[in-house]
Amino acid sequence: MMERPQIETAEASSVLVIGGGLAGMYAAIAAWEAGQETTILSKGRTGGSGNGVVAMSVHRFAPDAPGLREEYRQRFLRSGAGEQEKETAEFFVDRAAGAMERLKRYGFPLEYRCLEEEGKDYPYLACCRPKQGRILTGAIRKYIDKDTGVAIQDGVTVCDIVTENGQVRGVLGENSGKLCFYPARAVILAAGGAGNIYAATSNTSDMTGDGYALALRCGLPLRGMEFVQFYPYRIYSPRRADIFPDLFEHGAVFRNEKGERFMDCPQYPMKELENRDVVARAMYGQREVRLDLSHCDPEYLERECPNISRMYREDPSRPLLLRPVAHFFMGGVPLKTDCSTAVKGLYVCGEVTGGLHGANRLAGSALTETVLFGRIAGENAAGWARGLPGAALPGEETLRRVLADYPQSGTDSLRDLKDALRETMWRDVSLVRTGEGLARALEEIGALEEAFRRRRPAREKEWIELRDMLMTARAVTEAAAARRESLGAHFRLDGAT
Ligand SMILES: Cc1cc2nc3c(=O)[nH]c(=O)nc-3n(C[C@H](O)[C@H](O)[C@H](O)COP(=O)(O)OP(=O)(O)OC[C@H]3O[C@@H](n4cnc5c(N)ncnc54)[C@H](O)[C@@H]3O)c2cc1C
Repeated sequence: MMERPQIETAEASSVLVIGGGLAGMYAAIAAWEAGQETTILSKGRTGGSGNGVVAMSVHRFAPDAPGLREEYRQRFLRSGAGEQEKETAEFFVDRAAGAMERLKRYGFPLEYRCLEEEGKDYPYLACCRPKQGRILTGAIRKYIDKDTGVAIQDGVTVCDIVTENGQVRGVLGENSGKLCFYPARAVILAAGGAGNIYAATSNTSDMTGDGYALALRCGLPLRGMEFVQFYPYRIYSPRRADIFPDLFEHGAVFRNEKGERFMDCPQYPMKELENRDVVARAMYGQREVRLDLSHCDPEYLERECPNISRMYREDPSRPLLLRPVAHFFMGGVPLKTDCSTAVKGLYVCGEVTGGLHGANRLAGSALTETVLFGRIAGENAAGWARGLPGAALPGEETLRRVLADYPQSGTDSLRDLKDALRETMWRDVSLVRTGEGLARALEEIGALEEAFRRRRPAREKEWIELRDMLMTARAVTEAAAARRESLGAHFRLDGAT
């Protein structure tokens, strides 16, 4: 039998959180407040990595008034198209406003907006001003550093969750090329999404599907992985910028390379303001998409989107080019109302979970989700940890099993395999899917997996990430191939509708 690689063992934590994004930070605060020693292990900087940083900071939730709540419930369930975990979705609709209200006590920089019913104001939306997620993530990190005892270890890429007899024992992590085992009584998986399995994405570069792959490797099933949301409002040239859909109410239009306004036809009654999926698919069919701002009031542009106004003014003859990008994964580890999983002591929250949004996500619901379920995951993980005498170290055989796949280091780059995977996913598993394309993608993923196994990587982190990207890409592609009809964000050109 091959010797297992040398690994160190870190000090044991009571609760260990994987991921320093919004869900992970909220979970860590809750676990610490519940009296448990808590550590965040994060690949990127806690509070400075993950999609929360680039998010527009919009949190939407059902207001507390019966009529308004019911209206939101109907919209939320309609967008899920019957693919939601009903109990979890109902729980979210009913509890999100309370979770957002509780969040106020931390004084994070969120402005709350209200709707009026029968002379009373009911909050329904919160966001930063300006709408930049990094303002919120930075403030939470500051709060954790100053006001809690949560320990943070940034730069640690968790590469496996270690379990024994159906119970979590801790995680294996990589830092600067070294592997370390981190023992823990409870673990919270909050590693976010996987936009980077696609060639075009709005996600930060650390979103490589690690969370989905970590769950699969410890025996958890995933649900709804075929449902990937693509975002249509992203300029990629001359510089990257997101546009607010409001712009289309003020004269902006899309044109193709021939100058045609391709969204102006009976098929799209709302034109550029159709549902995100519809707009993204219409763009996908064009060779080039330009943003025409010639009919917008320059003062409005300057006031509402100064960065785009600047790009436009620099050289009005140079087109602002857009393309749809992979944005959000509705699928993931099945989310229960208590955030528990089939592995005892392992909890999940944030974008890595599946079942809350079903086949499509309502705008503004992902950040509210991190607030509500981050807290629940933290409290319940703390409760589980409290009931155990201490972190039990796994047996030698368990670690050997986990490490069985790890390769010898070498000098190989994996860049070509990663690029090929992202192109395959974009071509065959993105906005428009067919049985033929999905079969071709599965074949190509198989060939990439084979090539991957033969490489001796120069950089451990590159190997860990590509292993997770391949696993996640396979999960998305297999789920897309299995669902023959179009539903929500999953569009089969050759399928029954
Ligand atoms: C451009 C953009 C705009 C958006 N705007 C909005 C919006 O306005 N409203 C809304 O509701 N939603 C929005 N979203 C979606 C929302 O931002 C995400 O769904 C949300 O941030 C997910 O939070 P999270 O904590 O689960 O994951 P993330 O915030 O993505 O954090 C994941 C964390 O896990 C870490 N990590 C990953 N892998 C590992 C590993 N192997 N080991 C250790 N750590 C790891 C990462 O470094 C990161 O710290 C937007 C998304 C994008 C991309």
